[in-house]
Amino acid sequence: MDLFAESDALAREAADPSRRADFLVPPWPGAAGAEWAYFAGNSLGLQPRGAAAAIEEELAAWAELAVEGWFEGARPWLASADELRPSLARLAGAEPEEVVAMNTLTVNLHLLMATFYRPTPERFRIVIEDAAFPSDSHAVASQARHHGFDPASAVVRLQPRAGEAALRTEDIVSELERLRGGVALVLLGGVNYLTGELVEIPEVTAAAHDIGAVAGWDLAHAIGNVPLELSAWGVDWAAWCHYKYVNAGPGAPAGAFVHSRHASDRSLPRLAGWWGNDPAERFRMEPGFVARPGAVGWQVSTPTVLAFAPLRASLELFDAAGIRALRERSVRLTGYLESLLDVVVAERRARVLTPREPGRRGCQLSLAVREARILAARLRSEHGVICDVREPDVVRFAPIPLYSSYHDCWRAATALRELLPAA
Ligand SMILES: *Cc1c(COP(=O)(O)O)cnc(C)c1O
Repeated sequence: MDLFAESDALAREAADPSRRADFLVPPWPGAAGAEWAYFAGNSLGLQPRGAAAAIEEELAAWAELAVEGWFEGARPWLASADELRPSLARLAGAEPEEVVAMNTLTVNLHLLMATFYRPTPERFRIVIEDAAFPSDSHAVASQARHHGFDPASAVVRLQPRAGEAALRTEDIVSELERLRGGVALVLLGGVNYLTGELVEIPEVTAAAHDIGAVAGWDLAHAIGNVPLELSAWGVDWAAWCHYKYVNAGPGAPAGAFVHSRHASDRSLPRLAGWWGNDPAERFRMEPGFVARPGAVGWQVSTPTVLAFAPLRASLELFDAAGIRALRERSVRLTGYLESLLDVVVAERRARVLTPREPGRRGCQLSLAVREARILAARLRSEHGVICDVREPDVVRFAPIPLYSSYHDCWRAATALRELLPAA
């Protein structure tokens, strides 16, 4: 059978459907009744249909109850952060006490490094990946500087082998062993934003612990994409955003995880604020700080109630679908896109950067191409295919198991076959 038969894509979708009806997919004016084939959910997830009603509910409570909304109504705002924790814990593979939604991602990285990056003159290095997201690079360099270290020596950037795009676990582990007592913190992306590589989080966490370092993870591209077991893996702390795979809207409140072995340790230094204080003490307005046990003890400010609403709506969809079932569909969907791209890459000038083994990637496939920005613009205007560009030469396609279809994958691969120059 012709792998590029449209009927095959449609048959696959009928047998293994998405939950697209739960989302608002933007229309594509290029063809009657068409929608975008949306592959940028790794950058901004689509809007859950329930998001507007969830926001309206909070606006109504504000209109009807004003300040009493903190304590009264169907959903008192005082509990707004707490009520998200069971669903977040399911995505993170954690206990509800170990997770919290607050702030935004880079802020959480800083807050958690304030606790978990405690350099000494001997042990001061932070190990990140060379292909780290720029914000993470800025965050670790500024943390090193904040403690009086020169980022040029304090920040170690892991490089893949020559000619390879992804890091190998054995190379990460051997580099950690080489640096040994010099490393204070290992902070890697669980799924790399550029290549889509899923790092072996339990193995690297264990290797960090073996050399006496703290293991922190940036899970921006992992949460809601792959199942996680942060608690069982012994991860010390993690942070992530919710606007990518978790579909909670632009600038949505982010997430944080602190392992239970640290979460109730009130002696840990932290940048504190009144929302991390024990509620029994909070409204006494006294200066003493008694950290709330659990990740909530790292909260600083008043919860962003309105911004939590779409996150709540989105988490309901994850709870209904189950992250493991989503992952199974994701492996099938990305495998289908990969098989189409294999044909494209054999004929055309392009290269897949993402590891081939499903266990070593999330849903995203990254392609190295010439003139990525021009290609992405043509995919969008001529085919209604939305991908994401990383300058200078990477286009990223993330088929999202909640709402992407096999037909979307077919449209993307067919369009690439047309637009890419011959090999
Ligand atoms: C998306 C992303 C960020 C963005 O951080 P914000 O603070 O939400 O702007 C940071 N790090 C990684 C790895 C990301 O993928």
